[in-house]
Order: sequence, then C-alpha cells, then structure tokens
Amino acid sequence: MFTTLAPLCYTTPMTNVLPDDFTFSQSNLQTYADCPRRFWLTYVQRLPWPAVEASPVQEVEYVIRLGDAFHRAVQRAETGIPAELIAAQLEDPLDAWFASYLQYRPKDIPTPVTGIESVLAIPFQVGNEGPIVRLMAKFDLLGVEPGSRAIIIDWKTTRKRTEPHYLRQRLQSQVYPYLLVEASASLPWGPIAPEQVEMRYWFTAAPDEPVRLRYDAAQHAANHQLLQRLVAQIVAGENEADFPKTPDTEANRARLCNYCAYRSRCDRGIHAGNLDDIADVDEVMRDSEIALEINLADVPEISF
Ligand code: SF4
Repeated sequence: MFTTLAPLCYTTPMTNVLPDDFTFSQSNLQTYADCPRRFWLTYVQRLPWPAVEASPVQEVEYVIRLGDAFHRAVQRAETGIPAELIAAQLEDPLDAWFASYLQYRPKDIPTPVTGIESVLAIPFQVGNEGPIVRLMAKFDLLGVEPGSRAIIIDWKTTRKRTEPHYLRQRLQSQVYPYLLVEASASLPWGPIAPEQVEMRYWFTAAPDEPVRLRYDAAQHAANHQLLQRLVAQIVAGENEADFPKTPDTEANRARLCNYCAYRSRCDRGIHAGNLDDIADVDEVMRDSEIALEINLADVPEISF
C-alpha cells in the first residue's frame, strides 16, 4: 500500500479564490466541468448544502452508506482479513455483494496488489510558468506488474452497470490513468507507459461484466491538454462572475440541477431528482468526497 503526496511547494499563490494548498481531483474537476457555479459554491464559498441532492432522501443516505460499507468490506478483504470473518458481519444486500466480489474479483490483477484505497498525488504545472498545483486520485485498488502493466480497479455499487461510453467521458477515467502514468516514473514500481494502463470499473450489479477502458499515448496527451485547460480556467478565476451557472437547458436541469443541492439558490427548481433516474449514483455522492480533499492536509507528506 502506498500514500504519496506531492510536495507542497507552489511557485506563486495558486489562485485568488482558492487556498494555496487546494488539491485538484477528478471530483472537483468534474464539478467544474459540469457547472462552474457549483464549483464556486462548493469549493470556494464552501456553502452548506441547502437542499437534498436526490429523493427519496432516506434512500439516498442508505445508498451512500451501503457504498461506503462495501468499500470497507473489500478493503479489509484485500488487506488479508479472512473473508469469513468479514462476511459474518454483513447484512443484505452487502452479503450478496461481498459474495459476488469473492466470486468475480478480477483474476488478472497483479499480485501482491500495489495499493488499496490509496491516495496518489502529483505536482501539476499550469503552462510553462504558471503555478504548480497538486492533483490527486484515490484508487480503490491498484495492481502493478513493473515494466508490464497496471490495472486501476474502481468498485461501483450503482443499481445497474454504467454504460462504457458514459464512463469513458467522465473525468475519473481521464485523471486516474493520467496521474498514474505521470507519477509512476518516480515510484519504485515505475515507470508505466500509457499503453500499459487499464482503468476497470467493477459493478456489484453486474460483477461478471466489468467495463474495461484501455489507455494510450494519444489519450494521455489529450488528457494533459484537458487538465491544463480546466485547471488554468479555475486558477484564473477571480470572483463569482468567473464561475457562471451551467446553461439553463432542459438537459442540464435533468442531468445536473435536479441533483444539485444549490438548485433553489440558483432558481433551478425545488424538487430533488429521483435516485432511480441517475446514470451513476456517484454523481450524488461526489460532494461527500470534499471531506477527503479537506483532510488531505492531514496526510503526512512524502516527497518523490
Ligand atoms: S443548481 Fe444548476 S446552475 Fe446551480 S450550481 Fe447546481 S448545477 Fe449549477
């Protein structure tokens, strides 16, 4: 298992609106890509969430708790705790999910695994002379065969298998492989080339049908440009006007505003969207990752 953080050395104040030690992640970058105003309210103003993200509320909380519990159970299993001991403490539907994990855990993950629920972070310079920011990812499971291949596993507890084309366009599918390749040259098991990386999503709802996304040098170069553009826009922002609302279209309301805690503040509706209509429940859970990002400041710093 590893925990690696980029050194906290910034050439200039990173931005006028974010703290100098702000850490970029797939989560907050996806928030910005979806709606700059939501990024502003969440990460700059850090406003408490005035509305539930989806309904029914109790069910949303239940789904979030289940997802956390499943990740904890798998984490314990991956660290070597006997499966029987873990399974004995699980109730429906976690017991069935865990049984699926035991049966369908991908057999080609390199062993021993390199990281379990581990955080990896790199310094990322904006342009040639811009500020150096920190970009981080938290891998559910990482298996590396040095000089040969690397598999990033993400456990998904969504109600149904998410479509590959949807996952491919998510920033998680871009940030995780990018960051792994960039960091690998400085880590004991590196370097890893883009073509040696695979991002794999594993579903409790379809444990024998994971989504496998291959990676290559062209995607790596495109991801670099994408991340440059997004981070440059964010650090250039000086006030609320630089973080506009997502355009008020029917599609954006259905996909974003209906599940956004700030919709009443933005005058984008009153009622929460239904959990059943979400393509990926992680969309609703995303803001819960803010706590992780804030707590990164407490993680011991290891230079590489
Ligand atoms: S309600 Fe819509 S416009 Fe307002 S912050 Fe949320 S996603 Fe953006």
